[in-house]
Amino acid sequence: MPEFTKILVANRGEIAIRVMRAANEMGKKTVAVYAEEDKLSLHRFKADEAYLIGEGLSPVGAYLSIPEIIRVAKMAGADAIHPGYGLLSENPDFVEACDQAGITFIGPRAETMRALGDKASARRVAIEAGVPVIPATEVLGDDMAAIKKQAKEVGYPLMLKASWGGGGRGMRPILAEDELELKVREGRREAEAAFGNGEGYLEKMIIRARHVEVQILGDKAGNVWHLWERDCTVQRRNQKVVERAPAPYLTEAQRAEVCEMARKICAHVNYECAGTVEFLMDMDDQKFYFIEVNPRVQVEHTVTEEVTGIDIVQAQILIEEGKTLPQATGVASQADVKLNGHAVQCRVTTEDPLNNFIPDYGRLTAYRSATGNGIRLDGGTAYAGGVITRYYDSLLVKVTAHAQTPEKAIARMDRALREFRIRGVATNIEFVINLLKHPTFLDQSYTTKFIDTTPGLFAFKKRRDRATKILTYIADITVNGHPETAGRAKPPAEVKAPKAPAPRVEPAMGTRNLLEQKGPQAVADWMRAQKKVLLTDTTMRDGHQSLLATRMRSIDMIKVAPAYAAHLPQLFSVECWGGATFDVAYRFLQECPWQRLRDLRAAMPNLMTQMLLRGANGVGYTTYPDNVVRGFVARAAETGVDVFRVFDSLNWVENMRVAMDAVLEANKVCEGTVCYTGDILDPARAKYDLKYYVARAQELKAAGAHILGLKDMAGLLKPAAAKILVKTLRTEVGMPVHFHTHDTSGAAAATILAACDAGVDAVDAAMDAFSGGTSQPCIGSVVEALRHTDRDTGLDIAAIREISNYWEHVRAQYAAFESGIPAPASEVYLHEMPGGQFTNLKAQARSLGLEERWPEVAQAYADANQMFGDIVKVTPSSKVVGDMALMMVAQGLTRAEVEAPGVDVAFPDSVVDMMKGNLGQPTAAGPRAFRPRC
Ligand code: ADP
Ligand code: MN
Repeated sequence: MPEFTKILVANRGEIAIRVMRAANEMGKKTVAVYAEEDKLSLHRFKADEAYLIGEGLSPVGAYLSIPEIIRVAKMAGADAIHPGYGLLSENPDFVEACDQAGITFIGPRAETMRALGDKASARRVAIEAGVPVIPATEVLGDDMAAIKKQAKEVGYPLMLKASWGGGGRGMRPILAEDELELKVREGRREAEAAFGNGEGYLEKMIIRARHVEVQILGDKAGNVWHLWERDCTVQRRNQKVVERAPAPYLTEAQRAEVCEMARKICAHVNYECAGTVEFLMDMDDQKFYFIEVNPRVQVEHTVTEEVTGIDIVQAQILIEEGKTLPQATGVASQADVKLNGHAVQCRVTTEDPLNNFIPDYGRLTAYRSATGNGIRLDGGTAYAGGVITRYYDSLLVKVTAHAQTPEKAIARMDRALREFRIRGVATNIEFVINLLKHPTFLDQSYTTKFIDTTPGLFAFKKRRDRATKILTYIADITVNGHPETAGRAKPPAEVKAPKAPAPRVEPAMGTRNLLEQKGPQAVADWMRAQKKVLLTDTTMRDGHQSLLATRMRSIDMIKVAPAYAAHLPQLFSVECWGGATFDVAYRFLQECPWQRLRDLRAAMPNLMTQMLLRGANGVGYTTYPDNVVRGFVARAAETGVDVFRVFDSLNWVENMRVAMDAVLEANKVCEGTVCYTGDILDPARAKYDLKYYVARAQELKAAGAHILGLKDMAGLLKPAAAKILVKTLRTEVGMPVHFHTHDTSGAAAATILAACDAGVDAVDAAMDAFSGGTSQPCIGSVVEALRHTDRDTGLDIAAIREISNYWEHVRAQYAAFESGIPAPASEVYLHEMPGGQFTNLKAQARSLGLEERWPEVAQAYADANQMFGDIVKVTPSSKVVGDMALMMVAQGLTRAEVEAPGVDVAFPDSVVDMMKGNLGQPTAAGPRAFRPRC
């Protein structure tokens, strides 16, 4: 018989690749067939030629199409077809079709298949060969009474078996007569649907069974050898999971007995090529019972190859080329087929053991397998980037471990499985690892019910797969950008990663040390006693909040904090927490603001940290219960805040009391703060006059404030007014004054210098790179302006430049969040928007398509303010005015129209909320009698 030159593999997945490898080693060409759904599967690319089959057929149907396969075999000039396992491998019609086409089928003859292919006739063969079978009925007829009688004769419990079943399917236990009829009918229906033939019979159920099977090879000269046995007892729902060779629990006599039984059955039918004879071993009487013959190569043939050294697939090919067993195996005789060591195979599947082994599919985002001494892998489409489809079985890779003893083979298998990294789809690996460790597995007392009755096997931690998730995230962001920044400016390509200046000295004593040693009142007294102007750096809070909508990440602040501690120990405080940053950290940055605080606190041990607290609103946007505010302040103090700037959006001190008390309770610095609006020099805005501010300051002092905060959130305080206001507050109230403003108008530095002339104790400024515009004035310029005056700040201007240089690089990274307000805006005196809101509202107007109509929004904002009675505008009251303004412009409503009786206006929720009194009460006399009609 001629040697084959080209072999077509009528299969897919790992077994197709296994056969191609065998053929390739023998110098033969290979032909693959693939269904449309398998066009990316690896077996296609492992062949010398590959052809699409079964267009219009189902994914599996394509591989079951005999005419299609014969067509391709002829076209490609294949002289043999290897069927693998499953699919057409046990189909005698296919064998005949090959014969007719003049192509050799690599496998048993059609008649052998017919004799052994179904379980019922295989039983008859076994009986003829004198091999024990499990007591069973004849093939069942239709007469239920007769079935009952037959069942009783065999005796319960029984196993209903479909003659044509396979792969663990078509079997159901019947424990007692009362379920007989139902199960028999059910089983028949199911078998008809699944195997195209409802035929079945009842077999005695072996309660404690081991599955032992014997590998057979037969040649055309009539030799039939066994290649020893395998243990396949570890099964899930009658399907094999772990297979090993040899069966470690057999005595030599038992081994010889079962192998000889298998050989006898095959010799009886003159078996040709490779096959497997399966037995159940009853653990109670230690006897073997034949169950079936599988006339093909088995999934688990690998373990036999490992322990015998015989390549079963190559033997199949050689046998079909007409070689004798010694030629096909390289072994002289049956007696020379020796066992060497122990081999274990695990089937790694893409099934989720924690979800009832549901097959998973998708792209393998990562695939790293294990090799090394004694490990063999038989993979299908198993590589990073490979796509597992839902159309086929879920076997991904077979891992076979070979070693000298069962213990060593198991340890090797365990090592290999733990080395695997498969991501993107679920796998059963963790489950199998667990199984290999189980005492019942290790002491070989397991039965075929081991997995099904051992829930402990499922007790393992699901891998969280964090590395892959992070990598996927980084890849996505790198390629597609962050969804938050979609459509926004990107940092210029030449921008370098910011590098924080390294601290060169140990931090000198600062305000924090004073607070720790002497308490908050001492800090306030010390402040009052200073000649120099004290500075608060706002870059880590209000500076970036105003310029970048609070998108700065903690890491950018934490990195530079040590430089602050080392080189700017004269700072009064570093404002680095509270305001909008708290909410935004969670909402947009996925960061913990508390961790930010802890880290900053630790990095600047000598400097006071400062936060902005909206009285009863805490760091939120609604009024919170007292205990929440108290708890929050206590926690913030504990975590690291030293100075609490407490304010109320309507300057209502009652709304601040709980928070202030909590600050005092925590023994931290309480900066009771009054918000500045209007213009004390403008007689037309008499509502917010000097008296108003002095009265609020007195209230704050009475409430226990250590320091008076003057919060000019919109930057409305003009230099001349600052002079009067600061001087008056200082003298009449007697507290140190801490001034905060915004540079929206571009004139804030002048106001600061005027305030300094008037004796202000501390002022806020931002590092140069984060200053100006809606942020605070430039710290470097303030320091320089006061240099060589009696109010010299004492800060190291070189250190400021160095730190600001760092911030400049940081800011470049946040290009997406720049507001695009390039120049000062005197318009702020019209609308009086707080700095942070200015940038935000502009962005909001843009998103509503009102960008072109910004001047109208500015005017509407001013009108709305007047409509509400000229209120203090800062979060959250400023939001109310902003919402109203946008609504008016969007709906084309003027103030007159809104106020006209009888006009239906849909007021924004925030307006309704404020009018209900939920923000507290305004503190200046004479609010207008305006109430939304809602
Ligand atoms: P398949 O064709 O699906 O492989 P088998 O007849 O080989 O079917 O049986 C598969 C498995 O089902 C066996 O390994 C065993 O676990 C279980 N089984 C089959 N018959 C019996 C029986 N009579 N008693 C107990 N278990 C059985
Ligand atoms: Mn079987």
